[in-house]
Amino acid sequence: MDFQELYQDVILDHSRKPRNFAEIEDADVTVHADNPMCGDDITVYLKMEDDDQLRSVHFSGSGCSICMASASLMTLKLRGRHRGEAEKLSQSFQHMITQPEEPTNPDPALGDLQLLSGVRKFPMRAKCATLAWHALDEALAASLDGKAKRDISVED
Ligand code: ZN
Repeated sequence: MDFQELYQDVILDHSRKPRNFAEIEDADVTVHADNPMCGDDITVYLKMEDDDQLRSVHFSGSGCSICMASASLMTLKLRGRHRGEAEKLSQSFQHMITQPEEPTNPDPALGDLQLLSGVRKFPMRAKCATLAWHALDEALAASLDGKAKRDISVED
């Protein structure tokens, strides 16, 4: 797979016109995450229906095409999901990106997130693809702790 093949139409479309791209002042949880290796710097905002269900997920910030597309696709997948589903999807996605081999039975819930699976051949870019998902993991944990804001970095 050529690096250019990563930049399929869906990826480019989401990176140029990210969905659910907004700063949400009254979010229940806000997590800022950055990836200094690439310069990706985003904030993920969660609104919870109750402890168990995600009412909406938004993000803001700036990053490379892979980071922006991954975050945009993530927000679309997560709206209305239960906590457990969101955690499982995050695990499935990060597994797909960090494994050397293509998963033989990818989680069907991934849907068009599988378009990003080629990133695993470019370990330097894996952090771009997973940054929003690290922020999501942090946000889900924070929502249980009652902590409204967190800041993470994936430098190491
Ligand atoms: Zn990046």
